[in-house]
Amino acid sequence: MWELVEVFRDEAMLAGFAQIIPPMFEDIAVFTRLGESTDVVTKELYDLEDNGGRRLALRPEFTASVCRAYVQERPLIPWKAWYAGPAFRQERPQRGRYRQFDQVGAEVIGSHDPDIDTEVIALAASFYRRIGLNQVVLLINTLGDQADRPRYLEALRGHFSADLDSLSEQSRHTLEANPLRVLDSKRPADADLVAAAPLLIDYVSDDAASAFQRVQGGLRALEIPFTIAPRLVRGLDYYTRTAFEFASSALDAAQNAVGGGGRYDGLVADLGGPEEPGVGFALGVDRTLLACDSEGVFDPQPASPQVWVVAATAGTEALQLTAELRRAGLSVNRSFDGKSMKAQMKAANRSAAPVAVIVGDQEVADDTVSLRLMQGDGNQAVVARREMVSKVKELLQL
Ligand code: AMP
Repeated sequence: MWELVEVFRDEAMLAGFAQIIPPMFEDIAVFTRLGESTDVVTKELYDLEDNGGRRLALRPEFTASVCRAYVQERPLIPWKAWYAGPAFRQERPQRGRYRQFDQVGAEVIGSHDPDIDTEVIALAASFYRRIGLNQVVLLINTLGDQADRPRYLEALRGHFSADLDSLSEQSRHTLEANPLRVLDSKRPADADLVAAAPLLIDYVSDDAASAFQRVQGGLRALEIPFTIAPRLVRGLDYYTRTAFEFASSALDAAQNAVGGGGRYDGLVADLGGPEEPGVGFALGVDRTLLACDSEGVFDPQPASPQVWVVAATAGTEALQLTAELRRAGLSVNRSFDGKSMKAQMKAANRSAAPVAVIVGDQEVADDTVSLRLMQGDGNQAVVARREMVSKVKELLQL
């Protein structure tokens, strides 16, 4: 997992994002403001009470916390922040869906420029590319502005209500709470009606439509392949304009979203801040790892150490030599529990370390160490202790 976070951190820093470490729990209002028709809030939120009777929630996602931090701290805009850490949702656990899972993500607050949308999508795409995933596809859509929403919702309601009997019972409930979410239904009974539903793109303002064109042009210019998914709606109510999702064809269809995000131009104001727009995404680390497994991206073998320290002395030599080699940036391991010389050499062999550093009473008396090449003819040489690091590096051809 940390390898993935490191790659993400590297890409985010190259793109001028600074790290933010939001708390794992917040005042529950930070999340309930996300919208009452959002599953993450209504059904999945871990809702706690502390000793003072305050209602807190374990974060189900990071965007609201990042916006809350922006409202409190008011950094210069555009403010670019990245994060990594666990999120919590009360779900029925299954492969790729957990109650605690890790996300990495990035948010930009304070710019309407569609180039920022393209930049954050490009950041996610370069992360997947760098870890070597080839079967991740990018889906994009526009959700228009908040002002476009009522007309579209009305059209959707009209469409579904005209044929209410053919809609599944669950979707009939969803229709009342949030018609947009009916488009998310994967139930076969709803498939025909969902397929025939009016498209958001036909209801968005000229401004939002031209911003969407600009994002597409940007993605093409950066040679990031994408597919327009006119029915892609995101789980949270606050999304406006650009919405996107990364899906892995190496995962089961039900849990194939490895990441997603979009614009949320009203959220900062909703949380009591100024009218600042925002755009960002979160990528699921657990699912990304599952996709890596399916695509065979990582070598499942743990890396061998570069050096194995073998010490047949009663003193602290093994501790000291190991520490000195590690300080020089080498990966080093050793045996414990006073194993015999023979058992230690066996362990060195098993570790596949190319070099062993061996020290016995004679070496201690002479202030030397023996270096053995573990492969080939097992050549062994005695070197002065102070030359140990440079000689080991020579043997490792560093
Ligand atoms: P969301 O905020 O729901 O768009 O989530 C962003 C990403 O986090 C998803 O694309 C998934 O990869 C991941 N994710 C969301 N919920 C879960 C979960 N319960 N278990 C594992 N990963 C999740």
